[in-house]
Amino acid sequence: MVKICCIGAGYVGGPTMAVIALKCPSIEVAVVDISVSRINAWNSDQLPIYEPGLDGVVKECRGRNLFFSTDVEKNVSEADIVFVSVNTPTKTQGLGAGKAADLTYWESAARMIADVSKSNKIVVEKSTVPVKTAEAIEKILTHNSKGIKFQILSNPEFLAEGTAISDLLSPDRVLIGGRETPEGQAAIKSLKDVYAQWVPEDCILTTNLWSAELSKLAANAFLAQRISSVNAMSALCEATGADVTQVSFAVGKDTRIGPKFLNASVGFGGSCFQKDILNLVYICECNGLPEVAEYWKQVIKINDYQKNRFVNRVVSSMFNTVSNKKIAILGFAFKKDTGDTRETPAIDVCKGLLGDKARLSIYDPQVTDDQIQRDLTMKKFDWDHPLHLQPTSPTTVKQVTVVWDAYEATKDAHGLCFLTEWDEFKTLDYKRIYDNMQKPAFVFDGRNVVNVDKLREIGFIVYSIGKPLDAWLKDMPAVA
Ligand code: NAD
Repeated sequence: MVKICCIGAGYVGGPTMAVIALKCPSIEVAVVDISVSRINAWNSDQLPIYEPGLDGVVKECRGRNLFFSTDVEKNVSEADIVFVSVNTPTKTQGLGAGKAADLTYWESAARMIADVSKSNKIVVEKSTVPVKTAEAIEKILTHNSKGIKFQILSNPEFLAEGTAISDLLSPDRVLIGGRETPEGQAAIKSLKDVYAQWVPEDCILTTNLWSAELSKLAANAFLAQRISSVNAMSALCEATGADVTQVSFAVGKDTRIGPKFLNASVGFGGSCFQKDILNLVYICECNGLPEVAEYWKQVIKINDYQKNRFVNRVVSSMFNTVSNKKIAILGFAFKKDTGDTRETPAIDVCKGLLGDKARLSIYDPQVTDDQIQRDLTMKKFDWDHPLHLQPTSPTTVKQVTVVWDAYEATKDAHGLCFLTEWDEFKTLDYKRIYDNMQKPAFVFDGRNVVNVDKLREIGFIVYSIGKPLDAWLKDMPAVA
């Protein structure tokens, strides 16, 4: 029986290994983590992450050929293939701070693998890492190996949160990079054999190590760039009376462009896009390519612009002040069908409104009070360090209340902001919400979830990203 161990039981390690265990009953899969609370949650009925379909997969395999453990060393030493799926946050201090990837967690995992290994192993980079990381990891492993042989593979993960299980069950592609030596090719074949148990052969791409590492950064940069492109258009649509939904539909009909990932919004979020682009920018700068670095930086600048623009629109529409006004925030996660709030645009929007002294009442079906308070008090980039390093009892922001119902959040509110596109927001009783709000009642839709005409008929003043402006808003001062 082949044994797999995955270091890091997070959003990637947990679901990825659960699907490998499901599809490969002859492989024993152990997922290990230094966070005791995370492992306890994986072993309980309340999994640490919300992902449609994940519960069923874990229930089927856990205890059969899928195990979650804090005994990192034992499981690593027994494994034939070790995946490393630890966090690779943006550095907060020192050389490259605010841009470069912090490989502290990766390096300590590599040193531990070298320390505890008693047999040859394939070590797989699952985390997203800077191009050429495999070379550094190889050096750490071989200099500490006591004669044991390691082969490094890059196997970046392309799943999207919210659809992780279906992405893993039928991926667009699986990418495996390795050394172009006989040993490297043999390692690639071993990992390919694992995926080949359910992924069609022509979807498993094999490349050299550097191409695989760089492809992941490139894919995230291209995806984020599409969002920034449509968001840039949304500002122009508002200025001209065009409708961004109609524009992106027309643009996406071109088969060279395609219709996916062209929805305008308050901005992209999630743990990866910003971090990976910053990392790409840093790598370009280090390789003497300042023009290329500048080009990718713009993707983040437009994203920041979009979040600021939204906050400015809320404040300027409501007579240039939200001081002491109750604003309902519907949706806090960075997108629907996940409870993940890492880098969610909601954090910046809420902080912007709090900066103008608003009172916020926040509702998200999957995000807890503690998490929201932690997010609103945490410093930039601190969110991406392991959970056990984060404060357990965060200080609370007193102008913020977190409620468990959209109607409660909107009661007596002056304005209502949609920051996540949860399906349930489409079917709320908006007449009831309108009746219970202060007048004039404002809606600011950062995700284009509501039917603007219907809400205007009820009496709301509605702003929806990239849509023709309400007559009321046209008279308000221009938004920078
Ligand atoms: P995460 O923070 O959810 O999980 C990482 C886990 O690693 C944490 O539970 C942490 O406690 C653990 N860890 C850190 N150091 C450890 C060590 N030395 N030993 C054992 N456990 C350790 O992160 P994630 O979202 O799963 O992302 C992991 C990597 O995958 C990142 O590089 C990320 O960029 C990449 N990635 C993420 C996604 C996504 O959608 N979240 C998608 C593709 C790739």
